[in-house]
Parts: sequence; C-alpha cells; structure tokens
Amino acid sequence: MIIIMQSHATDEQINALRSKIESYGLTANISRGVERTIIGAIGEERQLNIEALQSLPGVENVVRVVKPYKIVAREGHNENTVIQVKGATFGGKTVQIIGGPCSVETQEQMDLAAQFTAEAGCRLMRGGAFKPRTSPYAFQGKGVEGLHIFRTAADKFDLPIVTELMDVRTIDDFLKYHVDIIQIGARNMQNFDLLKEVGKLHTPVILKRGLCATISEWLMSAEYIAAGGNHNIILCERGVRSFESAYRNMLDVTAIPFLKKETHLPVIVDPSHAGGKAWLVSALSKAAIAAGADGLLVEMHPYPCEAWCDADQALSPNELKTLMDELRPLAQAIGRDI
Ligand code: PEP
Ligand code: MN
Repeated sequence: MIIIMQSHATDEQINALRSKIESYGLTANISRGVERTIIGAIGEERQLNIEALQSLPGVENVVRVVKPYKIVAREGHNENTVIQVKGATFGGKTVQIIGGPCSVETQEQMDLAAQFTAEAGCRLMRGGAFKPRTSPYAFQGKGVEGLHIFRTAADKFDLPIVTELMDVRTIDDFLKYHVDIIQIGARNMQNFDLLKEVGKLHTPVILKRGLCATISEWLMSAEYIAAGGNHNIILCERGVRSFESAYRNMLDVTAIPFLKKETHLPVIVDPSHAGGKAWLVSALSKAAIAAGADGLLVEMHPYPCEAWCDADQALSPNELKTLMDELRPLAQAIGRDI
C-alpha cells in the first residue's frame, strides 16, 4: 500500500503513520521527496484499514497495491479452476449448459422438464424451490417439497441439480437432497452470513452477480466463500441494472473476458434473466460463448405460457433443443465443445 502525504505534512504526522503501519506488523518505507513524502507499507496490506489510514492527519491519499481478494485472484494461481459435478466439468474445454425451469411447480412439470433438458443435451438441470420474489404476494416456491420433487425428476434422467439457497436454515435440507450445485442468487450476493456458511460446505456454488455489483464486490463475495475452504465457485453473470428499461437487465459481456483475466474461477452466463425475453436468449447465449463463457444457465419450461414464474423468458423444449444445435458449431469454432 502506498500512502501519499499532503505537501505540508509534519514529521510528527509522518511518524504517526509509521507507528500505525508498524502496529499492524508491516514495515514502513519512507521516501521524502522535494514536494511531498510517500510511505510504502510493506507486508500483508489486506489487514490495513484503508479508511482509518486515509483519515489520519496529513494524509493526502492511500493507494492499494495488491487486489483485495486473494484466493480467487488469478494472480498467484494461473491455472484455471476446473470443477467436476458428477462427470460434468466447469472451467475446462466443455461449455456446460444448464437447462430447466425458473421454479419447481409440480412433479409432472419437473418430470417433463427433466426429460426435455436431457433430450436437448444439457448435462445439468436448474429449478428453484425457494424463490426470491419482488412481491411477497407472488409464488414463493415449493420449499422443501420442491427439493423432493426436483431430486425425484432429475434422478430419472441422471441430471445433477442446481437450485437456489436463500436461507442458512435450509442448508440441512439441501444436504439431505444432495443438491449438486448450490445457487446463490443475485439478491443474496452480499448476504455475507450465507456466503460464510456455504464456504464451510464442499458443494459447488454458483455465485450470481448482484443487481448492481461491481466486479470487485462480486469477487470479494467469492472470496468469502473461498476463505471458508470451499473453492468450488462458479461465477454467473446475469445482467446488471442499467438506465435501459427496454429489457430486463443489461448483459455485461465485458465482464466475461475481464473475469477470466482477474480470476481462475469458471464464469458462466444466465441469458434468461439478463434479457428477460425468450427471443433474446439465443443471441445473448452466442455472445456469451464467443466472449469465453464456460457455460450457460438457461430457463426452459415444458409449457412456457403456463410457467408460474418468469414465463416471458422461458424457452420451450424445442427452442432449447434448437439453441443447443446452434451453439455446438459456435463452441467448436473457438476450440471448445458442448
Ligand atoms: C434464478 O436464477 O432463478 C434467479 C432468481 O436469478 P437471479 O438471482 O439472477 O435474479
Ligand atoms: Mn427465473
């Protein structure tokens, strides 16, 4: 960390800075220039409280040298993290497509959805049993019964399941139903207690980007999970809030190559919640794969018009099949497969 002192900073103020830095176990390297003094704090700078240093008398500016995240940073961990979920890999050569409905509704709906997901060639299935809804009067999900329905349907087609965890109190249910990937939704990206708890598990986690989270905030949330010992984290870009109201969210395609440079974790994209319309899903999926995404999370419903949640953005079974057929040559063109 570099601390730039104000031009009129006194020796007393500079010495106070030195003592503060040394009290954290770091070394202070003081460089006195003609116009101002610059202090380098050498050591584990993440433990320094940047705001506290900034507020000390005589300090002009404090600049970080290292990234605030450590375990998830590409720096010092050049190899891509490859996550195995029952034979399906994330972060390797294969672009992994997860298909399924927004929410678990009935056994019949999930049985059909599982069949169509498998028939389209997806290796994993999504479906929410606990739904984060804007309105408290909207369908909130089937809860634990939904986990049971989902597991039963997916097992018929050997599909690993991805489902959202909203509350630490349901973690035991998630373990009981052997949820294969725990999804942390956009609204909970900064629910730090939830992140700490999934950090203690071994189950892979899909960490969605918060509604208006910066890349740095998002990676710090991933760091929370990793710091607990669970390094099986897949980041999911799902569009961010913007000034544009013509579609649901703005897919941040730039985030994909940026994250691949910044972190070794796999990065997937949810084109359904980004666009919010079924007809946008194909174009956004192609953009995501072309930009280097390691997978997609796509909503499909056996009867989209009858979906209890997010009907507008659900693909029909046929549309999912067509999408998969369109994506295969695209993946091949960039040296990957589906
Ligand atoms: C979902 O995937 O079901 C969901 C609610 O998405 P998000 O958290 O991205 O809004
Ligand atoms: Mn949805």
